[in-house]
Amino acid sequence: MPYDLLIKGGRVLDPGQGLDGPLDIAIANGDIAAIRADIPPAEATRVMQLKGQLVVPGMIDMHIHFIQGAATPGLNEIAGPPDLAGVQSGVTTVLDAGTTGAWNFGVYPHYVVGKTQTRLLCMLNIGKMGIPGQALRKPEIYTTEDVDIDATVKVVSMWPKLIQGIKLRLVGPALESMGVKLIELAKEAGRETKRPLMVHLGDLISHNQRAGEVTKALLRALEPGDIVTHVCTSVPGGVLDGNKRVLPELREAEQRGVVFDPAHGRSGFNFEVAQRLAEQDFHPSTISTDITINGRKGPIHSLTETMSKFLALGYSLPDVIAMVTTNAAKALRRENDLGALAVGRVADISILDVVNGKWRFRDSQENVFHGEQALVPVHTVRAGKPISLDWGPHPWGWLPEDAAT
Ligand SMILES: [Zn+2]
Repeated sequence: MPYDLLIKGGRVLDPGQGLDGPLDIAIANGDIAAIRADIPPAEATRVMQLKGQLVVPGMIDMHIHFIQGAATPGLNEIAGPPDLAGVQSGVTTVLDAGTTGAWNFGVYPHYVVGKTQTRLLCMLNIGKMGIPGQALRKPEIYTTEDVDIDATVKVVSMWPKLIQGIKLRLVGPALESMGVKLIELAKEAGRETKRPLMVHLGDLISHNQRAGEVTKALLRALEPGDIVTHVCTSVPGGVLDGNKRVLPELREAEQRGVVFDPAHGRSGFNFEVAQRLAEQDFHPSTISTDITINGRKGPIHSLTETMSKFLALGYSLPDVIAMVTTNAAKALRRENDLGALAVGRVADISILDVVNGKWRFRDSQENVFHGEQALVPVHTVRAGKPISLDWGPHPWGWLPEDAAT
């Protein structure tokens, strides 16, 4: 029986499986049927002929806010269709990082799931109404009245496969009025739902100086498998002390098995903080975008451009690929079905190009830095089906800004 699709002539790179080399991948019935060198084209109905491009496991963006209709019902001021941040950007799985809470979560299963080609996963916000509009710049929790643990537990039990964990943002006046009570409430929800927490660091809203103290309490309280997001933030509540040294609480949390993600966002990724962390041998285990419609226009642009920024920081290509595949799958407790190229697995595959040049990047504070390698998406294959990419976030497409112009 012929294969439905043969991906031929690429460099298969899956650090989680120890694969790196010139291999072909054959797909049948939506699954990977063979991975080996020189599979004859005559054995497949369709052949995708590459010229050494990277063939990697379907990439996972584990922090987006790109759910049309969910962010601001009826308005969509910040949210686009999930496929634009997903399969049309070379990404096969996206995780919405708590745009909705227990009182409005129903928008996903009823209006979003089933209407995308991208695989959708979610975090449920501990704030019962999720994140209100205005580009995520308003807090979702002012008092304990804004948290409904019973409803949170019920919603997770209704959609256990869709909801991966509980999201908490340490932002706004509640840092002052509630402090560590915020963490206790989220932990209670995590315990009751048997889900990890994903906690946003960095008080982008009120720039409260108490944020640092709450962050230390958070780092002490997190358990193995909990996720800290925006680890490279430079706003109050970050992980460096006044002398730009890594907080001891951060090291301890890392040793306990807490996951650290640098979700870029429009305030969460500072190049100097990322450098200081790397210099002190502290490395995030994943990469994600925190992308919104506005962030797509800049400075985030795309997952591949965010990965290129980590190449510019000195991370290796296999490391950067591992961060959005095997590591992200593990962080989401989905390593049994996502983030790997293996026979029998669903054929979620991203095909990328590495383009050498002089590239200019900007962090969330618009600080400029440079790199020499740019990753761009070339094709997406989702459950064995090739899907066309969008034009890209820049007027010229997917490449970052050319530093020569
Ligand atoms: Zn976010």
